[in-house]
Amino acid sequence: MTKRPVKYIFIAGGVTSSLGKGIIAASLGKLLQARGLRVSIIKLDPYINVDPGTLNPYEHGEVFVTADGAETDLDLGHYERFLNKPTGRRNNFTTGKVYQTVIERERRGDYLGKTVQVIPHITDEIKRRIRLLEEEGNDVIIVEIGGTVGDIESLPYIEAVRQMTWELGKENSVTILLTLIPYLSAAGELKTKPTQHSVKFLMQSGVQPDILVCRTEKPLSDDIKRKIALFTNVRPDRVIEAIDVDSIYEVPMAMREEGLDRVVLEQLGIRGLPEPDLRSWEEFVRRMKAAAEPVRIALVGKYVELHDAYKSISEALLHAAVKHGLKLDLRWVNAEHITPDNVEETFKDIGGILVAPGFGSRGIEGKMTALRHAREKGIPMLGICFGMQMAAVEFARNVLGWEGAASTEIDPDTPYPVIDLLPGQKEADRKGGTMRLGQKEVTLRPGTRIREAYGRSRIKERHRHRYFFNEKYRDDFERAGMKVSAVGTEDGYTEAFELENHPWYVAVQFHPEYQSTVDNPHPLFTAFVEQAYKHKSLTHDKEKSK
Ligand code: GLN
Repeated sequence: MTKRPVKYIFIAGGVTSSLGKGIIAASLGKLLQARGLRVSIIKLDPYINVDPGTLNPYEHGEVFVTADGAETDLDLGHYERFLNKPTGRRNNFTTGKVYQTVIERERRGDYLGKTVQVIPHITDEIKRRIRLLEEEGNDVIIVEIGGTVGDIESLPYIEAVRQMTWELGKENSVTILLTLIPYLSAAGELKTKPTQHSVKFLMQSGVQPDILVCRTEKPLSDDIKRKIALFTNVRPDRVIEAIDVDSIYEVPMAMREEGLDRVVLEQLGIRGLPEPDLRSWEEFVRRMKAAAEPVRIALVGKYVELHDAYKSISEALLHAAVKHGLKLDLRWVNAEHITPDNVEETFKDIGGILVAPGFGSRGIEGKMTALRHAREKGIPMLGICFGMQMAAVEFARNVLGWEGAASTEIDPDTPYPVIDLLPGQKEADRKGGTMRLGQKEVTLRPGTRIREAYGRSRIKERHRHRYFFNEKYRDDFERAGMKVSAVGTEDGYTEAFELENHPWYVAVQFHPEYQSTVDNPHPLFTAFVEQAYKHKSLTHDKEKSK
């Protein structure tokens, strides 16, 4: 029996960035998966950094960590949340990584005698990396090309797509261009020219898009679709409208309505598949839209103006709220603005406080003020990674009375290094890719809130840190009421602690947010949101009876 060829879908973006290519890729993937196909999505990033691990969230948004320990683009988070299956290091690469491999090969002597060039050496390496996903038994591989058509740095990727579509043959690949049809209110008109230009640009590179997905604020008339088609050599029924919707989770349905999956399958010569089964997805969206009762959560971090910096956390909170039939009212609180004077006011109608991951000293005093408030006032609190580390510091300073207690990340000379470098980190002389990364098994202690939340004693969670809780202070913490509730199964590192005399104060070293999906809301977020809701109803009842 001959193996069926793997089919490829290339998605590029035109006109401007931020059109939601990642969501379109994930939604199309969802539709094809819901018809029974095995789908994987890969994101190609045209920048020179080897990975986004050393990038500031202001530059890049969240760094998404895969189970196998790669620091990747946040679009991989969308892929996982939509397709409900893990990605890995193969699902994302950058120009930096491609060049690094080619240059290492050159130094080894693999190209002896040859001049190493963008074409064919760089483009070959791009194609090799894309095709690695074929080994995972996929029917369809969706390739999302970062950046915008016309960027200098995207050129080798577009060239690789041109070569691949040629090599794969007509029925085995389809190229989609996501573009913008702006509405000019002064003229009262939708404008197609930027799209025409983007398509022309792509065609100059030898790539003819088969399908255009057009982001727009207003519906596209048949006339406009025909006009776009005429200028771009795309069939009018393959000019797909992607009108703005309220939530990213509505995009799969919107794309099904527009027939995106249908035209893709037609082009790929895949026939006879059932209609997409989106029942559980639709149920999620229905519940999300119907939820009226609010649950107010404060997310305390230092990049709060940029919501993308905490993408997986805000999505995990949403999944959990929808599971409880609640409407997530997420308040973004800038840690730098919190002071002992305004903390009461800041959190006055909040049900739960989440203290976010982070690096460096900016905003830590505010984080600790928020943590102290949650601890003393019995407000449910979930601390993640740096949030957990700051909870330890706050406890050491204010409960144990250890003046100057700190993480050595903040104060290398602290008399009480309650958070210190992980073993092996002192020797790490490079910043890139050297943290403790990826999935590790964690053992949960019986009789703890975290154990109750997960409903089992062994879990696997993803990590991204260089510092950890200093074991030598464990007894002092436990005696004073901060109990270690989870440890690394293999290394015994402290993975979580919680306060004894508090309704729900749980701090974790790992990142639960990466594993929450629409189909599988994360148990820790679900427990936290439930406690937050309970807390607020309790305080309301108290206030009413006053
Ligand atoms: N900066 C801390 C560390 O490296 C926490 C990292 C994080 O929050 N992801 O350990």
